Amino acid sequence: MKLTEIMKQRMAFSFEVFPPKTDKGMENLPGTLEHLCEWKPDYISCTYGAGGSNVGKNMEVCKLIQDAGTTPVTHFTVIGNTKEGIKEQLQNYLDNGVDHMLALRGDLPFGWTGTGGDFKYATDLVAFARKEFGDKFEIAVAGSPEGHITCRSLDADIAVLKQKQDNGADYIMTQLCWDMEQFKYWLDAIRQAGITMPVDVGIMPILDQAATINMALSRNGCVMPRELCEIISQNWIFPNPFVKDPFDADVEGKKAAFKEAGIEYTINQIAEYRAMGVDGIHLYALNKYKDVSEIIERSGMRTMV
Ligand code: FAD
Repeated sequence: MKLTEIMKQRMAFSFEVFPPKTDKGMENLPGTLEHLCEWKPDYISCTYGAGGSNVGKNMEVCKLIQDAGTTPVTHFTVIGNTKEGIKEQLQNYLDNGVDHMLALRGDLPFGWTGTGGDFKYATDLVAFARKEFGDKFEIAVAGSPEGHITCRSLDADIAVLKQKQDNGADYIMTQLCWDMEQFKYWLDAIRQAGITMPVDVGIMPILDQAATINMALSRNGCVMPRELCEIISQNWIFPNPFVKDPFDADVEGKKAAFKEAGIEYTINQIAEYRAMGVDGIHLYALNKYKDVSEIIERSGMRTMV
């Protein structure tokens, strides 16, 4: 079934996982997916390591998602990919029963100044996939409520999103956004710009200080509201959360306190998005099921419908 059909009827619910870098991570993944599927997600998406070494594992993970009993959505990027290569890979996904994709430009690998492939933007990929494969894929595209980090302006970024829709995209998966006022502004703005695609909201669980700061600032320039900054500051691990051997005497206590406050923060964010009537909640499961399950359970997302 098309995910956009589900989103017309009710709020969709999904997870995102990534191809593990280690053999042990790969061994653990089927169990994790099985647990995640106990929550009956409408789909699970798998990231695509643009230009990196784990691209091959993406298909393996998509198959594991199928085995676990839900729809796989593969992320796919144009980084380092030729038209012929893209056609071949997309055909391979279809041959393996993967017919949902998130069409992305992709993160430029460190030191790269361009995509190193035949296409420069996600809009090109959407148009190409539609031209070559018609309606065989359901296509999601990325949307950045705060504007993509390299965009000239929010208006220009929204025009690009409209172009993705005009080229045949079906729905939007958003970049994480903790700034709820900005999210509401963006949602109004895209609707005014004629973008009618459903909006599936990406939410990163706040579980670890370094990972939270990294996700917000290493690439995306996401605003962290005062409340989130306070949680980070109040539980700061000295000298900083990035060092391997902190000299802080209470590292474990602070990690636990941070995680508890972060889970509460995430639950409140989910409640706000649901109250706004978004079309889907897409939880970055980070290949973990225990913390993610606690968030789902305590949020009432699967019980208080
Ligand atoms: P685009 O839409 O192509 O936009 C890139 C920039 O170019 C923007 O600033 C845009 O405004 C500008 N632009 C676009 N088209 C034009 C045009 N025609 N003329 C001028 N300017 C233009 N990355 C990965 O590598 N692997 C993943 O698995 C992955 N998963 C993601 C999942 C989600 C839900 C999201 C939101 C992002 C994900 N990313 C992933 C990150 C994404 O690849 C980066 O944000 C990337 O920098 C931009 O991708 P995009 O598809 O938004 O690019």
